[in-house]
Amino acid sequence: MYIDLTQLEDEELRVEHRYDERFDLQDPDLRLKMAPKVQLVARWAAGRDVRVRGRLKAAVEVPCDRCLSYFLVPIDVEFDLFYAPIETLTPEEDVPLTPKDLAYGFYRDEKIDVDGLVREQIFLALPFRWLCAPSCRGLCPQCGIDLNKGTCSCAEERVAPYWSALRDLKRSM
Ligand SMILES: [Zn+2]
Ligand SMILES: [Zn+2]
Repeated sequence: MYIDLTQLEDEELRVEHRYDERFDLQDPDLRLKMAPKVQLVARWAAGRDVRVRGRLKAAVEVPCDRCLSYFLVPIDVEFDLFYAPIETLTPEEDVPLTPKDLAYGFYRDEKIDVDGLVREQIFLALPFRWLCAPSCRGLCPQCGIDLNKGTCSCAEERVAPYWSALRDLKRSM
C-alpha cells in the first residue's frame, strides 16, 4: 500500500488501513498473530518533505533468545516520521545512522511505501532482547532439554562458572 503524493494537496491526507493475515513481515523469525492496522495523517512539511504521523497496532510472535519457544509481542505504537524524496540523496553520500534518522525515511516516484513503514515500526517496537520471561532458564547446552519444562541429569554435572574458570587457569599453568 502507498500514499500517493500526487493526491496530497494543501490539506492533510488521512489514511486508515487494515491489512490481512497475508501481510509479509519479510523476516523469517517473526510470525504475524494480528494483522497490522494503521491510521495515519500525511501532510507536506518543509520543501518536498512529507510528515507522516499515526498509530500502528499489530501482534507478532518471536522466538525466545534462550529457549527458542515463540511468545507474543503486542504492538501499539505511535509514530511521527519525515519522508524526503530519494533524489535528494546522492549515491556517494554515506551518512552514519543516528537514532534521529530512524524518524527519517525516503520516498520515490511520489509514493510513500506504507508496507515498509509498517514493517519498520513493528521491528522498532520489538524489545532489544527476546525473552519469553525474564526468568527463562533456556535450554540445556548439553542435551537441549527445555529447562523451563523439565530437568536433565547433565544439570548436576555442570560445573559452576567459578570452578570452571579456576580449572582453566590451572590447566594453563
Ligand atoms: Zn524462553
Ligand atoms: Zn541436559
